[in-house]
Amino acid sequence: SGKEQKSKVYKVGVDTTYPPFEFKEGNDYKGIDIDLINAIAKNQGFKIELSPMDFGGIIPAMQANQLDVAIAGMSITEDRKKIVDFSTPYFDAGLTVVVKKDDSSIKSVNDLKGKKVAVKKGTTGAKYAQDNAAKLGITVVQFNDSPAMFQEVSNGNAEALIEDYPVISYAIAQKDLGLTIVGDRLNGDQYGIAVLKGQNQDLLKKINKGLEELKKGGTYDQIIKTYLGE
Ligand code: GLN
Repeated sequence: SGKEQKSKVYKVGVDTTYPPFEFKEGNDYKGIDIDLINAIAKNQGFKIELSPMDFGGIIPAMQANQLDVAIAGMSITEDRKKIVDFSTPYFDAGLTVVVKKDDSSIKSVNDLKGKKVAVKKGTTGAKYAQDNAAKLGITVVQFNDSPAMFQEVSNGNAEALIEDYPVISYAIAQKDLGLTIVGDRLNGDQYGIAVLKGQNQDLLKKINKGLEELKKGGTYDQIIKTYLGE
């Protein structure tokens, strides 16, 4: 009924630890994705509740109807478009190879033969590594979250990792992880906000309208500036 629609609180899946897009500070979640979805909800007059979870669990949770929306630095891909509908893109990203700072033997993705490469479950990075494992001659090791994946290379347990460029650049700028980016970006992609395919079309319209208004009104730029500076 109309009444139910009005009181509905949309469950929003976010990654657990993915600064500058989402991260916990004290008891609060912060980041570009968090501020953006809150601002969109406010602008369009709907209510949300955050559900932080491992990235790999987000699409399955949507399919199980445990989430209405996902905003998690999620790249718009053809595979995912079979399962979810995406908003208009809100951020440009893409994958890059990362190695230990003092490892001069790996200068690009082509130097990974015989190496262990850490990735995060369910990500575009994991898919890239798996799809190219035979060609590159790599062994792929999977982790549930980005900090665990970074740690694996910092510790020297894996020689490289694949992560989104804006996320690893931010992490390296924030603190010395003993890691460095090598080579060209592996691809270019864009983040979108997801709703379950063919359902929630009204919500998707509101999300797109909200995004457009935040961009026009300057709030989008303000949010980006808060986390990334000028
Ligand atoms: N952008 C990547 C993807 O969509 C990684 C997202 C993430 O780790 N939160 O798979």
